[in-house]
Amino acid sequence: MGMRIVADYDTCEGLGMCEAMASDYFELDDDEQMHILNEHPDEADRAHVNAAVQACPVLALRLEG
Ligand code: SF4
Repeated sequence: MGMRIVADYDTCEGLGMCEAMASDYFELDDDEQMHILNEHPDEADRAHVNAAVQACPVLALRLEG
């Protein structure tokens, strides 16, 4: 099944670091609500996605698997 991006939307403050790091996986809408564009990254993107997950200042993101 591979890895999965998990977000805690209650913790997310819409700061946008994830989008800045990986706009192909994370997007903030006009209300600063964050949306995950693809919950299941390819293995080849692990380091790229993990860097974005680690960049979240409030630890609202994690990578499972
Ligand atoms: S970096 Fe964290 S707080 Fe900011 S939008 Fe992404 S998940 Fe939300």
